[in-house]
Amino acid sequence: MTQRHLTIVGAGLAGGLLATLLAQRGWSVDVFERRGDPRVHGYAGGRSINLALAERGLHALRAAGADGAVLDKAVMMRGRMVHAADGHQQLLRYGRDDSEVIWSVSRGELNITLLDAAERAGARLHFDRRLESVDFDARHAVFVDDTNGASHDHAFTALIGADGAGSALRTAMSAHASLGERFEGLGHGYKELEIPPAPDGGFRIEPNALHIWPRGRYMCIALPNDERTFTVTLFLPSAGDPSFETIRTGSDARAFFERDFADAVPLIPNLERDFDRNPIGILATLYLDRWCLDDRAVLLGDAAHAMVPFHGQGMNCAFEDCVALADHLDRTEDRTQAFADFEAERLPNARAIQAMALENYLEMRERVDDADFLLQRDLERELADRHPDRFVPRYAMVTFRRLPYATALERGRVQRALLVEATQGRASLADVDRAWLDAEVLRRLPPLPAET
Ligand SMILES: Cc1cc2nc3c(=O)[nH]c(=O)nc-3n(C[C@H](O)[C@H](O)[C@H](O)COP(=O)(O)OP(=O)(O)OC[C@H]3O[C@@H](n4cnc5c(N)ncnc54)[C@H](O)[C@@H]3O)c2cc1C
Repeated sequence: MTQRHLTIVGAGLAGGLLATLLAQRGWSVDVFERRGDPRVHGYAGGRSINLALAERGLHALRAAGADGAVLDKAVMMRGRMVHAADGHQQLLRYGRDDSEVIWSVSRGELNITLLDAAERAGARLHFDRRLESVDFDARHAVFVDDTNGASHDHAFTALIGADGAGSALRTAMSAHASLGERFEGLGHGYKELEIPPAPDGGFRIEPNALHIWPRGRYMCIALPNDERTFTVTLFLPSAGDPSFETIRTGSDARAFFERDFADAVPLIPNLERDFDRNPIGILATLYLDRWCLDDRAVLLGDAAHAMVPFHGQGMNCAFEDCVALADHLDRTEDRTQAFADFEAERLPNARAIQAMALENYLEMRERVDDADFLLQRDLERELADRHPDRFVPRYAMVTFRRLPYATALERGRVQRALLVEATQGRASLADVDRAWLDAEVLRRLPPLPAET
Protein backbone atom coordinates (compact mmCIF):
# COMPACT_ATOMS: atom_id res chain seq x y z
CA MET A 1 0.00 0.00 0.00
CA THR A 2 1.38 3.43 -0.92
CA GLN A 3 1.71 6.36 1.48
CA ARG A 4 -0.65 8.26 -0.85
CA HIS A 5 -3.50 5.94 0.11
CA LEU A 6 -6.42 6.92 2.33
CA THR A 7 -9.51 5.08 3.53
CA ILE A 8 -12.70 7.05 4.09
CA VAL A 9 -15.43 5.63 6.33
CA GLY A 10 -18.89 6.81 5.21
CA ALA A 11 -20.02 7.80 1.72
CA GLY A 12 -22.58 10.37 2.83
CA LEU A 13 -22.24 14.05 2.00
CA ALA A 14 -18.74 14.68 3.37
CA GLY A 15 -17.41 11.24 2.38
CA GLY A 16 -18.53 11.66 -1.24
CA LEU A 17 -17.05 15.13 -1.59
CA LEU A 18 -13.78 14.32 0.17
CA ALA A 19 -13.27 11.20 -1.95
CA THR A 20 -13.72 13.35 -5.08
CA LEU A 21 -11.30 16.05 -3.95
CA LEU A 22 -8.60 13.59 -2.87
CA ALA A 23 -8.88 11.39 -5.95
CA GLN A 24 -8.72 14.48 -8.17
CA ARG A 25 -5.47 15.41 -6.41
CA GLY A 26 -3.93 12.03 -7.14
CA TRP A 27 -4.64 10.17 -3.90
CA SER A 28 -5.57 6.52 -4.00
CA VAL A 29 -8.90 6.43 -2.13
CA ASP A 30 -11.12 3.64 -0.81
CA VAL A 31 -14.54 4.56 0.62
CA PHE A 32 -16.59 2.19 2.76
CA GLU A 33 -20.31 2.85 3.24
CA ARG A 34 -22.66 1.01 5.58
CA ARG A 35 -25.67 1.32 3.26
CA GLY A 36 -26.27 -0.06 -0.22
CA ASP A 37 -25.49 1.97 -3.33
CA PRO A 38 -28.30 4.59 -3.56
CA ARG A 39 -27.86 4.66 -7.35
CA VAL A 40 -28.96 1.01 -7.47
CA HIS A 41 -31.32 0.63 -4.52
CA GLY A 42 -32.75 4.16 -4.21
CA TYR A 43 -31.75 6.58 -1.49
CA ALA A 44 -32.38 5.31 2.05
CA GLY A 45 -31.47 8.47 3.90
CA GLY A 46 -33.81 8.59 6.83
CA ARG A 47 -32.76 12.13 7.70
CA SER A 48 -33.88 15.54 6.44
CA ILE A 49 -35.03 15.22 2.85
CA ASN A 50 -33.70 18.58 1.74
CA LEU A 51 -30.99 20.92 2.91
CA ALA A 52 -30.02 24.55 2.49
CA LEU A 53 -26.79 24.92 0.53
CA ALA A 54 -24.91 28.19 1.05
CA GLU A 55 -21.69 29.79 -0.22
CA ARG A 56 -19.29 27.69 1.86
CA GLY A 57 -20.78 24.46 0.57
CA LEU A 58 -21.03 25.79 -2.97
CA HIS A 59 -17.42 26.87 -2.93
CA ALA A 60 -16.36 23.36 -1.94
CA LEU A 61 -18.55 21.87 -4.68
CA ARG A 62 -16.91 24.25 -7.18
CA ALA A 63 -13.50 22.95 -6.08
CA ALA A 64 -14.70 19.45 -6.99
CA GLY A 65 -16.37 20.60 -10.23
CA ALA A 66 -19.75 19.40 -8.91
CA ASP A 67 -21.52 22.75 -8.44
CA GLY A 68 -23.23 22.82 -11.86
CA ALA A 69 -24.87 19.42 -11.46
CA VAL A 70 -26.09 20.32 -7.97
CA LEU A 71 -27.42 23.79 -8.84
CA ASP A 72 -29.30 22.38 -11.87
CA LYS A 73 -31.67 20.64 -9.47
CA ALA A 74 -31.67 23.20 -6.64
CA VAL A 75 -34.43 25.68 -5.78
CA MET A 76 -33.36 29.23 -4.96
CA MET A 77 -34.47 30.65 -1.60
CA ARG A 78 -34.26 34.43 -1.40
CA GLY A 79 -35.28 34.84 2.21
CA ARG A 80 -37.49 33.76 5.08
CA MET A 81 -41.22 33.89 4.45
CA VAL A 82 -42.54 34.43 7.95
CA HIS A 83 -46.09 33.17 8.61
CA ALA A 84 -47.59 34.98 11.61
CA ALA A 85 -50.23 33.31 13.78
CA ASP A 86 -52.95 35.47 12.12
CA GLY A 87 -51.96 34.13 8.68
CA HIS A 88 -50.15 37.32 7.64
CA GLN A 89 -46.97 36.61 5.59
CA GLN A 90 -43.82 38.68 5.16
CA LEU A 91 -40.69 37.95 3.13
CA LEU A 92 -37.47 38.90 4.95
CA ARG A 93 -34.72 38.81 2.33
CA TYR A 94 -31.47 37.12 3.35
CA GLY A 95 -29.17 39.34 1.31
CA ARG A 96 -29.02 42.43 -0.80
CA ASP A 97 -30.13 40.82 -4.07
CA ASP A 98 -30.19 37.48 -5.92
CA SER A 99 -26.43 37.18 -5.59
CA GLU A 100 -27.05 36.52 -1.88
CA VAL A 101 -29.43 33.58 -1.72
CA ILE A 102 -29.37 30.01 -0.47
CA TRP A 103 -30.38 26.86 -2.34
CA SER A 104 -32.67 24.02 -1.34
CA VAL A 105 -31.14 20.72 -2.48
CA SER A 106 -32.29 17.14 -2.13
CA ARG A 107 -30.02 15.15 0.19
CA GLY A 108 -30.47 12.00 -1.91
CA GLU A 109 -29.73 13.67 -5.27
CA LEU A 110 -26.74 15.52 -3.82
CA ASN A 111 -25.36 12.30 -2.38
CA ILE A 112 -25.72 10.55 -5.75
CA THR A 113 -24.07 13.45 -7.61
CA LEU A 114 -21.10 13.27 -5.23
CA LEU A 115 -20.78 9.47 -5.51
CA ASP A 116 -20.73 9.77 -9.31
CA ALA A 117 -18.10 12.50 -9.07
CA ALA A 118 -15.98 10.41 -6.67
CA GLU A 119 -16.08 7.41 -8.96
CA ARG A 120 -15.30 9.52 -12.02
CA ALA A 121 -12.28 10.91 -10.20
CA GLY A 122 -11.03 7.36 -9.52
CA ALA A 123 -12.13 6.64 -5.92
CA ARG A 124 -13.14 3.06 -5.18
CA LEU A 125 -16.54 2.89 -3.46
CA HIS A 126 -17.51 -0.16 -1.37
CA PHE A 127 -21.17 -0.32 -0.35
CA ASP A 128 -22.78 -2.53 2.30
CA ARG A 129 -19.61 -2.22 4.36
CA ARG A 130 -20.22 -1.04 7.94
CA LEU A 131 -17.12 -0.27 9.99
CA GLU A 132 -17.19 -2.80 12.79
CA SER A 133 -13.79 -2.62 14.50
CA VAL A 134 -10.33 -1.15 14.11
CA ASP A 135 -6.93 -2.41 15.24
CA PHE A 136 -4.93 0.82 15.09
CA ASP A 137 -1.63 -0.86 15.94
CA ALA A 138 -1.90 -3.33 13.09
CA ARG A 139 -3.62 -0.71 10.86
CA HIS A 140 -6.36 -3.17 10.16
CA ALA A 141 -10.13 -2.55 10.00
CA VAL A 142 -13.08 -4.93 9.78
CA PHE A 143 -16.19 -4.02 7.80
CA VAL A 144 -19.44 -6.00 7.94
CA ASP A 145 -21.99 -6.48 5.16
CA ASP A 146 -25.31 -6.22 7.03
CA THR A 147 -27.20 -7.86 4.15
CA ASN A 148 -25.49 -11.23 4.81
CA GLY A 149 -23.39 -10.79 7.96
CA ALA A 150 -20.09 -11.37 6.12
CA SER A 151 -16.90 -9.72 7.48
CA HIS A 152 -14.34 -8.02 5.25
CA ASP A 153 -10.79 -7.17 6.32
CA HIS A 154 -9.06 -4.03 5.15
CA ALA A 155 -5.44 -2.94 5.71
CA PHE A 156 -5.23 0.87 5.87
CA THR A 157 -2.61 3.61 5.89
CA ALA A 158 -4.96 6.12 7.57
CA LEU A 159 -8.70 6.24 8.24
CA ILE A 160 -10.86 9.32 7.74
CA GLY A 161 -14.15 9.31 9.63
CA ALA A 162 -16.96 10.77 7.54
CA ASP A 163 -19.45 8.40 9.15
CA GLY A 164 -21.76 10.96 10.70
CA ALA A 165 -22.96 11.82 14.20
CA GLY A 166 -22.98 8.20 15.40
CA SER A 167 -19.45 7.60 14.01
CA ALA A 168 -18.11 4.08 14.57
CA LEU A 169 -14.60 5.35 13.84
CA ARG A 170 -14.98 7.89 16.67
CA THR A 171 -15.97 5.08 19.03
CA ALA A 172 -12.95 3.03 17.95
CA MET A 173 -10.61 6.03 18.36
CA SER A 174 -12.06 6.79 21.83
CA ALA A 175 -11.25 3.27 22.95
CA HIS A 176 -7.62 4.02 22.05
CA ALA A 177 -7.27 7.59 23.38
CA SER A 178 -9.80 9.96 24.96
CA LEU A 179 -11.26 12.49 22.52
CA GLY A 180 -13.04 14.44 25.27
CA GLU A 181 -16.44 13.61 23.80
CA ARG A 182 -19.60 15.39 25.03
CA PHE A 183 -23.07 15.19 23.48
CA GLU A 184 -25.52 17.91 24.53
CA GLY A 185 -29.12 17.17 23.65
CA LEU A 186 -31.27 20.19 22.75
CA GLY A 187 -34.38 18.89 24.49
CA HIS A 188 -36.27 19.45 21.23
CA GLY A 189 -36.94 17.02 18.40
CA TYR A 190 -38.29 17.26 14.88
CA LYS A 191 -40.75 15.54 12.59
CA GLU A 192 -41.04 15.86 8.81
CA LEU A 193 -44.31 16.37 6.92
CA GLU A 194 -45.02 17.09 3.25
CA ILE A 195 -46.77 19.78 1.22
CA PRO A 196 -47.56 18.06 -2.11
CA PRO A 197 -47.79 19.91 -5.45
CA ALA A 198 -50.94 21.93 -6.20
CA PRO A 199 -53.62 20.21 -8.36
CA ASP A 200 -52.17 22.01 -11.43
CA GLY A 201 -48.72 20.53 -10.69
CA GLY A 202 -47.19 23.78 -9.41
CA PHE A 203 -45.96 24.82 -5.96
CA ARG A 204 -48.70 25.48 -3.39
CA ILE A 205 -46.84 28.39 -1.78
CA GLU A 206 -44.04 30.78 -2.80
CA PRO A 207 -41.26 28.46 -4.01
CA ASN A 208 -38.28 30.81 -3.70
CA ALA A 209 -38.33 31.12 0.07
CA LEU A 210 -37.67 29.22 3.26
CA HIS A 211 -41.03 29.36 5.03
CA ILE A 212 -41.13 29.77 8.81
CA TRP A 213 -44.04 29.62 11.21
CA PRO A 214 -42.40 30.94 14.45
CA ARG A 215 -44.44 30.23 17.58
CA GLY A 216 -42.24 30.96 20.59
CA ARG A 217 -41.05 27.67 22.05
CA TYR A 218 -41.62 25.79 18.80
CA MET A 219 -41.87 26.35 15.06
CA CYS A 220 -42.39 24.85 11.62
CA ILE A 221 -40.23 25.46 8.58
CA ALA A 222 -40.72 24.39 4.94
CA LEU A 223 -38.09 24.09 2.19
CA PRO A 224 -39.02 23.68 -1.50
CA ASN A 225 -38.09 20.61 -3.56
CA ASP A 226 -37.62 20.68 -7.32
CA GLU A 227 -40.52 18.24 -7.80
CA ARG A 228 -42.83 21.07 -6.59
CA THR A 229 -43.30 19.74 -3.07
CA PHE A 230 -42.14 21.22 0.23
CA THR A 231 -40.63 19.34 3.13
CA VAL A 232 -42.12 20.74 6.34
CA THR A 233 -40.21 20.24 9.58
CA LEU A 234 -41.98 20.67 12.90
CA PHE A 235 -39.53 21.47 15.72
CA LEU A 236 -41.03 20.88 19.15
CA PRO A 237 -39.81 20.36 22.74
CA SER A 238 -39.39 16.74 23.76
CA ALA A 239 -41.25 17.28 27.07
CA GLY A 240 -43.76 19.78 28.53
CA ASP A 241 -46.89 21.15 26.88
CA PRO A 242 -46.99 21.24 23.90
CA SER A 243 -44.30 18.68 23.15
CA PHE A 244 -43.80 15.35 21.48
CA GLU A 245 -45.05 13.87 24.78
CA THR A 246 -48.43 15.61 24.51
CA ILE A 247 -48.72 15.50 20.71
CA ARG A 248 -48.37 11.82 20.06
CA THR A 249 -50.72 10.90 17.26
CA GLY A 250 -51.75 12.25 13.88
CA SER A 251 -55.06 13.45 15.30
CA ASP A 252 -53.27 15.27 18.16
CA ALA A 253 -51.10 16.88 15.47
CA ARG A 254 -54.11 18.00 13.44
CA ALA A 255 -55.72 19.68 16.47
CA PHE A 256 -52.39 21.33 17.33
CA PHE A 257 -51.88 22.57 13.76
CA GLU A 258 -55.46 23.87 13.56
CA ARG A 259 -54.79 25.92 16.66
CA ASP A 260 -51.22 27.13 16.00
CA PHE A 261 -50.44 26.71 12.30
CA ALA A 262 -53.90 27.23 10.82
CA ASP A 263 -52.71 28.53 7.42
CA ALA A 264 -50.50 25.45 6.99
CA VAL A 265 -53.30 22.92 7.59
CA PRO A 266 -54.85 23.05 4.08
CA LEU A 267 -51.35 22.72 2.59
CA ILE A 268 -50.61 19.37 4.29
CA PRO A 269 -53.43 17.03 3.24
CA ASN A 270 -51.70 13.94 4.72
CA LEU A 271 -50.84 15.55 8.05
CA GLU A 272 -52.10 12.64 10.19
CA ARG A 273 -50.47 10.00 7.99
CA ASP A 274 -47.10 11.82 7.81
CA PHE A 275 -47.11 12.44 11.55
CA ASP A 276 -47.93 8.83 12.40
CA ARG A 277 -45.41 7.37 9.93
CA ASN A 278 -42.38 9.59 10.31
CA PRO A 279 -39.96 9.16 13.20
CA ILE A 280 -39.08 11.88 15.71
CA GLY A 281 -35.57 13.11 14.94
CA ILE A 282 -33.18 13.93 17.79
CA LEU A 283 -31.23 17.20 17.89
CA ALA A 284 -27.90 17.46 19.69
CA THR A 285 -24.49 19.10 19.58
CA LEU A 286 -21.35 16.97 19.67
CA TYR A 287 -18.22 18.50 21.19
CA LEU A 288 -14.82 16.82 20.95
CA ASP A 289 -11.48 18.13 22.21
CA ARG A 290 -9.53 16.09 19.67
CA TRP A 291 -10.34 14.94 16.16
CA CYS A 292 -7.25 12.93 15.27
CA LEU A 293 -5.11 10.01 16.35
CA ASP A 294 -1.51 10.81 15.23
CA ASP A 295 -1.13 9.81 11.56
CA ARG A 296 -3.67 7.00 11.74
CA ALA A 297 -7.12 8.57 11.92
CA VAL A 298 -8.99 11.84 11.71
CA LEU A 299 -12.69 12.80 11.94
CA LEU A 300 -14.61 15.44 10.01
CA GLY A 301 -18.18 16.56 9.33
CA ASP A 302 -20.87 15.37 11.74
CA ALA A 303 -18.53 12.67 13.09
CA ALA A 304 -16.41 15.49 14.55
CA HIS A 305 -18.92 18.24 15.27
CA ALA A 306 -22.62 17.42 14.78
CA MET A 307 -24.70 20.53 15.39
CA VAL A 308 -28.34 21.55 15.58
CA PRO A 309 -29.67 22.48 12.13
CA PHE A 310 -30.85 26.04 12.77
CA HIS A 311 -28.20 27.81 10.76
CA GLY A 312 -28.42 25.33 7.90
CA GLN A 313 -24.64 24.92 8.11
CA GLY A 314 -23.89 21.31 9.17
CA MET A 315 -23.31 20.14 5.60
CA ASN A 316 -21.78 23.45 4.55
CA CYS A 317 -19.29 23.19 7.40
CA ALA A 318 -18.60 19.52 6.59
CA PHE A 319 -17.87 20.51 2.97
CA GLU A 320 -15.50 23.25 4.13
CA ASP A 321 -13.76 20.62 6.29
CA CYS A 322 -13.23 18.47 3.19
CA VAL A 323 -11.43 21.24 1.28
CA ALA A 324 -9.36 22.14 4.36
CA LEU A 325 -8.29 18.53 4.97
CA ALA A 326 -7.39 17.97 1.30
CA ASP A 327 -5.33 21.20 1.36
CA HIS A 328 -3.49 20.23 4.56
CA LEU A 329 -2.74 16.77 3.19
CA ASP A 330 -1.30 18.37 0.04
CA ARG A 331 0.84 20.82 2.02
CA THR A 332 3.01 18.28 3.85
CA GLU A 333 4.11 14.67 3.52
CA ASP A 334 3.90 14.40 7.32
CA ARG A 335 0.38 13.11 7.87
CA THR A 336 0.47 13.57 11.65
CA GLN A 337 1.20 17.23 11.01
CA ALA A 338 -1.49 17.52 8.33
CA PHE A 339 -4.16 16.03 10.63
CA ALA A 340 -3.06 18.21 13.55
CA ASP A 341 -3.05 21.35 11.38
CA PHE A 342 -6.50 20.48 10.05
CA GLU A 343 -7.82 20.07 13.60
CA ALA A 344 -6.17 23.31 14.75
CA GLU A 345 -7.75 25.23 11.87
CA ARG A 346 -11.21 23.71 11.95
CA LEU A 347 -12.03 22.85 15.58
CA PRO A 348 -12.43 26.46 16.82
CA ASN A 349 -14.51 27.24 13.76
CA ALA A 350 -16.74 24.22 14.31
CA ARG A 351 -17.27 25.38 17.92
CA ALA A 352 -18.25 28.82 16.62
CA ILE A 353 -20.85 27.58 14.13
CA GLN A 354 -22.21 25.15 16.74
CA ALA A 355 -22.78 28.13 19.07
CA MET A 356 -24.36 30.24 16.31
CA ALA A 357 -26.63 27.35 15.28
CA LEU A 358 -27.94 27.11 18.86
CA GLU A 359 -28.48 30.89 19.03
CA ASN A 360 -30.29 30.87 15.70
CA TYR A 361 -32.98 28.55 17.06
CA LEU A 362 -34.05 31.25 19.48
CA GLU A 363 -33.97 33.83 16.71
CA MET A 364 -36.04 31.72 14.31
CA ARG A 365 -38.75 30.60 16.69
CA GLU A 366 -39.04 33.69 18.90
CA ARG A 367 -37.53 36.77 17.35
CA VAL A 368 -38.24 36.92 13.62
CA ASP A 369 -41.57 38.63 14.20
CA ASP A 370 -40.69 40.73 17.24
CA ALA A 371 -40.63 44.56 16.97
CA ASP A 372 -37.16 45.12 18.51
CA PHE A 373 -35.71 42.46 16.26
CA LEU A 374 -37.25 44.02 13.16
CA LEU A 375 -35.98 47.50 14.11
CA GLN A 376 -32.46 46.15 14.70
CA ARG A 377 -32.69 44.24 11.46
CA ASP A 378 -33.59 47.39 9.50
CA LEU A 379 -30.70 49.25 11.12
CA GLU A 380 -28.39 46.34 10.38
CA ARG A 381 -29.30 46.62 6.69
CA GLU A 382 -28.67 50.33 6.69
CA LEU A 383 -25.26 49.88 8.34
CA ALA A 384 -24.40 47.14 5.89
CA ASP A 385 -25.10 49.61 3.03
CA ARG A 386 -23.17 52.45 4.67
CA HIS A 387 -20.14 50.34 5.71
CA PRO A 388 -20.08 47.37 3.33
CA ASP A 389 -16.46 46.48 4.13
CA ARG A 390 -16.94 46.63 7.91
CA PHE A 391 -20.52 45.89 8.90
CA VAL A 392 -21.70 42.61 7.37
CA PRO A 393 -24.73 41.05 9.10
CA ARG A 394 -23.74 37.88 10.94
CA TYR A 395 -26.14 35.78 8.90
CA ALA A 396 -24.44 37.07 5.73
CA MET A 397 -20.93 36.41 7.12
CA VAL A 398 -21.93 32.81 7.80
CA THR A 399 -24.03 32.24 4.71
CA PHE A 400 -22.62 34.32 1.85
CA ARG A 401 -18.96 34.72 2.87
CA ARG A 402 -16.21 32.27 3.70
CA LEU A 403 -14.41 34.10 6.48
CA PRO A 404 -13.76 31.79 9.45
CA TYR A 405 -16.88 31.01 11.48
CA ALA A 406 -14.99 32.13 14.62
CA THR A 407 -14.50 35.58 13.07
CA ALA A 408 -18.19 35.75 12.17
CA LEU A 409 -19.12 34.87 15.76
CA GLU A 410 -16.74 37.46 17.21
CA ARG A 411 -17.71 40.31 14.86
CA GLY A 412 -21.36 39.33 15.20
CA ARG A 413 -21.15 39.93 18.95
CA VAL A 414 -19.66 43.40 18.43
CA GLN A 415 -22.33 44.25 15.85
CA ARG A 416 -25.20 42.97 18.01
CA ALA A 417 -24.00 45.10 20.94
CA LEU A 418 -23.91 48.15 18.66
CA LEU A 419 -27.42 47.51 17.35
CA VAL A 420 -28.82 47.04 20.85
CA GLU A 421 -27.09 50.19 22.14
CA ALA A 422 -28.23 52.24 19.14
CA THR A 423 -31.89 51.18 19.30
CA GLN A 424 -32.40 51.02 23.08
CA GLY A 425 -35.50 53.02 23.98
CA ARG A 426 -35.95 54.09 20.31
CA ALA A 427 -39.25 53.39 18.53
CA SER A 428 -38.07 53.97 14.97
CA LEU A 429 -34.93 54.34 12.85
CA ALA A 430 -35.46 58.12 12.68
CA ASP A 431 -34.53 58.35 16.39
CA VAL A 432 -31.13 56.63 16.01
CA ASP A 433 -28.01 58.79 16.47
CA ARG A 434 -26.24 58.14 13.13
CA ALA A 435 -23.12 60.22 13.82
CA TRP A 436 -22.37 58.28 17.01
CA LEU A 437 -23.12 54.99 15.32
CA ASP A 438 -20.88 55.64 12.29
CA ALA A 439 -18.02 56.60 14.57
CA GLU A 440 -18.52 53.44 16.65
CA VAL A 441 -18.56 51.22 13.54
CA LEU A 442 -15.22 52.69 12.44
CA ARG A 443 -13.83 52.29 15.95
CA ARG A 444 -15.06 48.79 16.78
CA LEU A 445 -15.03 47.00 13.41
CA PRO A 446 -11.83 46.90 11.34
CA PRO A 447 -12.38 46.36 7.59
CA LEU A 448 -12.91 42.72 6.56
CA PRO A 449 -10.23 41.29 4.26
CA ALA A 450 -11.40 40.75 0.66
CA GLU A 451 -12.22 37.12 -0.20
CA THR A 452 -10.60 35.38 -3.13
C1 LIG B 1 -33.29 18.07 10.33
C2 LIG B 1 -31.94 18.45 9.79
C3 LIG B 1 -31.85 19.48 8.87
C4 LIG B 1 -30.60 19.85 8.36
N1 LIG B 1 -30.53 20.89 7.49
C5 LIG B 1 -29.32 21.30 7.02
C6 LIG B 1 -29.24 22.37 6.09
O1 LIG B 1 -30.25 22.96 5.70
N2 LIG B 1 -28.00 22.76 5.66
C7 LIG B 1 -26.86 22.14 6.10
O2 LIG B 1 -25.76 22.56 5.69
N3 LIG B 1 -26.92 21.10 6.96
C8 LIG B 1 -28.12 20.67 7.43
N4 LIG B 1 -28.18 19.60 8.28
C9 LIG B 1 -26.93 18.95 8.73
C10 LIG B 1 -26.44 17.92 7.72
O3 LIG B 1 -27.44 16.97 7.50
C11 LIG B 1 -25.20 17.23 8.24
O4 LIG B 1 -24.31 18.17 8.79
C12 LIG B 1 -24.50 16.47 7.12
O5 LIG B 1 -25.32 15.42 6.67
C13 LIG B 1 -23.15 15.92 7.59
O6 LIG B 1 -22.58 15.15 6.59
P1 LIG B 1 -21.66 13.91 6.98
O7 LIG B 1 -21.20 13.36 5.67
O8 LIG B 1 -20.66 14.33 7.99
O9 LIG B 1 -22.62 12.88 7.70
P2 LIG B 1 -23.83 12.06 7.09
O10 LIG B 1 -24.50 12.84 6.01
O11 LIG B 1 -24.64 11.61 8.25
O12 LIG B 1 -23.15 10.81 6.40
C14 LIG B 1 -22.56 9.76 7.14
C15 LIG B 1 -22.46 8.53 6.25
O13 LIG B 1 -21.73 7.52 6.93
C16 LIG B 1 -22.41 6.28 6.82
N5 LIG B 1 -22.05 5.48 8.00
C17 LIG B 1 -22.50 5.63 9.28
N6 LIG B 1 -21.94 4.71 10.08
C18 LIG B 1 -21.11 3.98 9.31
C19 LIG B 1 -20.24 2.87 9.55
N7 LIG B 1 -20.12 2.32 10.78
N8 LIG B 1 -19.52 2.35 8.52
C20 LIG B 1 -19.62 2.88 7.26
N9 LIG B 1 -20.46 3.91 6.97
C21 LIG B 1 -21.16 4.46 7.98
C22 LIG B 1 -23.88 6.67 6.77
O14 LIG B 1 -24.67 5.63 6.20
C23 LIG B 1 -23.83 7.92 5.92
O15 LIG B 1 -23.89 7.63 4.53
C24 LIG B 1 -29.42 19.18 8.79
C25 LIG B 1 -29.53 18.12 9.70
C26 LIG B 1 -30.77 17.77 10.20
C27 LIG B 1 -30.84 16.62 11.18
